[in-house]
Amino acid sequence: MDSIVREKIVTAANYDPLPVVLHEAKGVWASDRAGKRYLDMMSAYSAVSLGHGHPRILAAMADQAARLAVTSRAYHTELLGPFLETLVSLTGLEMALPMNTGAEAVETAIKAARRWGYRVKNISKDRAQIIVAENNFHGRTTTIVGFSSDPSYRDDFGPYDGGFRSVPFGDAQAVAEAITPETCAVLIEPIQGEAGIVVPPDGYLRDLRAVCDRHNVLLILDEVQSGLGRTGRWFAYQHDGILPDGLILGKALGGGVYPVSAFVATREVMAVFTPGSHGSTFGGNALAARIGSEALAIIADENLVERSAALGQYMKDRLRGIRSNFVTDVRGKGLWVGVEVDPAVVSARLVCDALLAEGILSKDTHGTVLRFAPPLTITREEIDWGMERVERVFGRALH
Ligand SMILES: *Cc1c(COP(=O)(O)O)cnc(C)c1O
Repeated sequence: MDSIVREKIVTAANYDPLPVVLHEAKGVWASDRAGKRYLDMMSAYSAVSLGHGHPRILAAMADQAARLAVTSRAYHTELLGPFLETLVSLTGLEMALPMNTGAEAVETAIKAARRWGYRVKNISKDRAQIIVAENNFHGRTTTIVGFSSDPSYRDDFGPYDGGFRSVPFGDAQAVAEAITPETCAVLIEPIQGEAGIVVPPDGYLRDLRAVCDRHNVLLILDEVQSGLGRTGRWFAYQHDGILPDGLILGKALGGGVYPVSAFVATREVMAVFTPGSHGSTFGGNALAARIGSEALAIIADENLVERSAALGQYMKDRLRGIRSNFVTDVRGKGLWVGVEVDPAVVSARLVCDALLAEGILSKDTHGTVLRFAPPLTITREEIDWGMERVERVFGRALH
């Protein structure tokens, strides 16, 4: 039976995949069983920022899996300390709590912020509020979808118990006006990924930092997608020269092979966690720590942050130079570019299907945005290969 049909019969329809069955992938290239090659311009939403099957990741993974993998945090290992030391030194923060998926690290941040609100800021019991942005994406748990503005993420998964207040993204004044004495934190993506790679006005994070300082509110940044080089800096907040109180990382931290996430924060924030207050059976296991450490080392050794900045600019310039009757905007930072299409002319999904036929893996978001987010290991020649095909599709009259 056809793999697509076979999958569909037994798999919940919570995704709507493009009609391709991937068989192998190495670096920036994936292929189907017939041997047709595709340039991966999606990188699994940045989880594969190091490229598929990075040899150093595979070697570290095999070595560590055979030595010591999952222990639970009931015991110490020699690997967790060094991994989190690297994370705190790269971020400029002080302590970290390892989890597995992005959503779990967001949940960790929410728990930390609320407890900090009650125990440090003295907010009355069960009254703490967190300010979030409209069109946010922070994952899929019931708490998180409760403050999503997208009905498809949120509808009929309630009841939702409040505790979140949504304001327009990119407007620091709106955050300032929404703050009350019961506000413990502002939780924000520096660039909104799933919303369509939405870049806020310059200085937004700097302004948020000042607002949070003025009102004794924590600034927590969700860099699950924007972090680890994607925007041309290690972390997107470095574009604004600020430091958040808490930082959420995931996706690329797992080297493209394993779920590794973390909440990183100041000592004051992390001090709210005491034994029993939070945990995860797999979080911070030896294999995860080894892979996370190797992923961070590769980003540094291969200058992936600098490459993302330079090649991202190159890719954006090339995309902006393409004549098309349906592209209305090209935006982004580093190797993370969103192309807005005019829905009156064509749907982003239709463009994705046309790109797929040309050998380009992309993915639409919200019907009108295509994303181009290749592994940070991509070369200029590979970008050229991709852009020639994108040019062909964008130059065509698609209906
Ligand atoms: C992907 C993503 C998440 C959720 O990560 P999962 O690993 O899918 O749980 C959270 N926040 C942002 C900004 C993301 O892009």
